[in-house]
Amino acid sequence: MGVGAGTRSTAVIGGGASGVLVAAHLARSNRSPQRITIFEPRQNLGAGAAYSTSDPRHLLNTPARSMSAFENQPDDFVEWLSARSVGATPDSYAPRRLYRRYLRDVLDMAVRCAARGTTVEWARTSVESIRPVTEPAGRRCILRTGSAQERRFDSVVLAVGAPEPAALSSLNLPASPRVVTNPWAPGALDQVPADSDVLLIGTGLTAVDVALGLADGIGIRTVHARSRKGLLPAVHTSGGFAEFSGIDFEGVTTARSAVRAFRDAVGDATEAGLDWRNVVSSARSRFPEVWRAMPGSEQQRLLRHAGRRWEVRRHRMSPLVASYVSAMQASGALTLGAGHTESVECYKSDGREVFHVTLASGARRELLKVGSIVDCSGPGTYLQSSSKLTGRLLDDGIVQQHRSGMGISVTEDGVVVTKNAKAEDLLYAIGWCRRGGSFESTAVPELRKQAAQIARHMSESGRERIGVVKDARVAPVESVAS
Ligand SMILES: Cc1cc2nc3c(=O)[nH]c(=O)nc-3n(C[C@H](O)[C@H](O)[C@H](O)COP(=O)(O)OP(=O)(O)OC[C@H]3O[C@@H](n4cnc5c(N)ncnc54)[C@H](O)[C@@H]3O)c2cc1C
Repeated sequence: MGVGAGTRSTAVIGGGASGVLVAAHLARSNRSPQRITIFEPRQNLGAGAAYSTSDPRHLLNTPARSMSAFENQPDDFVEWLSARSVGATPDSYAPRRLYRRYLRDVLDMAVRCAARGTTVEWARTSVESIRPVTEPAGRRCILRTGSAQERRFDSVVLAVGAPEPAALSSLNLPASPRVVTNPWAPGALDQVPADSDVLLIGTGLTAVDVALGLADGIGIRTVHARSRKGLLPAVHTSGGFAEFSGIDFEGVTTARSAVRAFRDAVGDATEAGLDWRNVVSSARSRFPEVWRAMPGSEQQRLLRHAGRRWEVRRHRMSPLVASYVSAMQASGALTLGAGHTESVECYKSDGREVFHVTLASGARRELLKVGSIVDCSGPGTYLQSSSKLTGRLLDDGIVQQHRSGMGISVTEDGVVVTKNAKAEDLLYAIGWCRRGGSFESTAVPELRKQAAQIARHMSESGRERIGVVKDARVAPVESVAS
């Protein structure tokens, strides 16, 4: 590999957007040579759940101007896109497959500009376990990979994305490739039969994406999307990104007062000729501080009572995708409705499975007969997660569930907090698993900030601090209500 004995080694577990961003920021920011290894079993780096698609109708959900890999170079993606795509502007919603190419270019460029001797390696395998150990040279992590190898690193970054959806797993359905528990897993939708109807559990952005891929538009197959409220994501407007300055979170420490502050601000914004989108934009940047100060019980209450309504407003569709959805609904290729899954019975017809699903909405019942069911309900929580690695880290006390019930505890610098409330400069985290600490932690503007923060912390802490155990600067852990 051509690196010296003093070279710091970092493992990045997960090569989706977060993993690539953190590797690129690490390579750019460190003046001494490093060895960075990205563990990612998928076919492409920088793809992950969001950017693996090759369907040109799968667009970014945010305009190009918010998608730069670097907060201090906000035009980076727009310039990259303009050089390749005719008519691209800062307001364009680019195809998502282009974004993974952008991330690869960002990584390649970062390696070219890195300190002499820095290498980035892609290990196309998963990581099954992480074991911190004390060795004569200091604290290290031993990683066991899916190919049964053991490898040692000075530091590790968890960039494993969101846990799988959990709506279907609670129904105890027979294992079948036609019961798709995670639509983002590579090849997950390949077994959905082309000639029978499909039920999507969920009506958010995931359901929209899956429907775009599955609705054939020629009437052979109907895609039914159902959720408790049957609400589609809201649609972006060009004026909706400006922040409404009148939101007042002063003294907000409870779920009820947070919802009231938001509602009041929407009223004021409407009077001022703006709309709720402008309030969402300002709440998105200002709310994390309020969230951090809330007790865990209030965080959980807020998620229970307002979480879904926030998601619908916060994660919006581009106008073009909204027009595709309307066209699918108009042609009958997609039906949308309210209803939660009450029961599922599985029959065989001509050797193939047919699922009879009863959906309930108040007193109303609906029976759908479909050849496949896809869970589009969005990420579950860590404890429900089927991720072997995170489950094991929780069991071993190497990570601790966040008091909100979402993700894990980390310090402000992204250092993981153990079950014993210790934070070691060994293990860092980026992305969805930090939602509990920062509320917003999945979109590129938050991810690039976290990536820069981790890179800065690692380069400041340097080799001499590797292995130092500090008390975590986080609030005391509360028990999580079931
Ligand atoms: C459909 C969709 C569209 C989106 N559109 C936008 C958008 O337009 N703008 C925006 O800002 N955000 C968008 N997002 C938000 C999105 O979550 C982030 O932009 C980003 O893709 C998250 O990347 P990630 O790397 O954290 O997670 P993921 O993309 O989930 O990547 C995690 C990776 O870790 C790997 N992994 C997991 N466990 C292991 C293990 N044990 N060993 C090795 N590898 C492992 C997985 O294979 C995966 O590739 C979108 C999300 C989705 C799902």
